[in-house]
Amino acid sequence: MKHLIIMICCCILYCCTPAQNLTKDQPSTTPITTISTSSPKTAKNIIFLIGDGMGLTQTTAGMYANGNKTELEKFEYIGLHKSHASDNLITDSAAAATAFACGIKTYNGAIGVDDNKQSKTTILEEAEAKGMATGLVSTSTIVHATPASYIAHNESRQNYEEIAADFLETDIDLFIGGGKKFFERREDERNLTTELRQKGYIVTDFIDSDLLNLNIDITKNFACYTSEEQPLPVAQGRDYLPDVTRQSIEYLDKKSGDEGFFLMVEGSQIDWGGHANKADYIISEFIDFDKALKEAVDFAEKDGNTLVVVTADHETGGFAIQTTSTMDSLVTAFTSDYHTASMIPVYALGPHAKDFKGIYENTEIYFKMRKAFGWGEMTK
Ligand code: MG
Ligand code: ZN
Repeated sequence: MKHLIIMICCCILYCCTPAQNLTKDQPSTTPITTISTSSPKTAKNIIFLIGDGMGLTQTTAGMYANGNKTELEKFEYIGLHKSHASDNLITDSAAAATAFACGIKTYNGAIGVDDNKQSKTTILEEAEAKGMATGLVSTSTIVHATPASYIAHNESRQNYEEIAADFLETDIDLFIGGGKKFFERREDERNLTTELRQKGYIVTDFIDSDLLNLNIDITKNFACYTSEEQPLPVAQGRDYLPDVTRQSIEYLDKKSGDEGFFLMVEGSQIDWGGHANKADYIISEFIDFDKALKEAVDFAEKDGNTLVVVTADHETGGFAIQTTSTMDSLVTAFTSDYHTASMIPVYALGPHAKDFKGIYENTEIYFKMRKAFGWGEMTK
């Protein structure tokens, strides 16, 4: 029996030694430079895409309505995260985004702060401090909970003007989203557009620029307001997300040189379709977000050093596809006009993608990204 155990152990050791596998087909004189799968290379860049309110049913409905296909099928590693907030089983977008951005469970409504309303450094701020290029893109206002949680620190997601002022506190390279009024028509009468320009930013908007062709100067930081208040739904003519995603990636890639970049892209309005209990709204927003995913995947496949992670903050609507549905004609129902507690899929592709399989807390996404960047695993 003892011998058998030793034999098995030796076999396991032998089979698991990477060098043994790698040398198999090579002449003994050839140096081995193959990457070990047990300790993959670090990611130079991370593109993190959040479909707000994009639970599994939203993805399923969007996929069938999109001719039974989605970019998400290209992602090899899929996991599930537990979305609950510190004070509520049902998270909101602020607590969820803060979990992703800072690695902490916090209360609903918190923007980049913990339960004691203390600011926590975000992954975007840390990337910026390390000399990387950083960006935020969304189809809501840029001061809305999801993008805000990467750059702002506020006890309440409702304090939009204070959140806008926090964009002056970090040298973020690029941000593109709605909400021009929070920068320019403010109670404190500051004009943040002027202040951004004084800091050296090129600032433009949906009136002065063609969002589909921004021609961003890579020697400057860049901000673009895509609307005065909330951007339109895609069904009413908004069309910038896929193009802006591509342009932002190209800009950040060129600007960052060898340092790499962190970009968060949000498809904000999948959530709003859920709140409105409108399947068509969910589906059209998902399909738009899927096109943005394609831009990230195409870049990552070409680049080879980019980790792409896709998830949602939570599910919205208790969305279901009903028994009389066909692939061409979905019959849907909702159990809620708010968020639900179901676990949320996480899709990953590129260096360290494998770390994202399994079931874990939403806060783990932060630690997995740090690890992918090679920043080391912080104590939690
Ligand atoms: Mg959001
Ligand atoms: Zn919501």
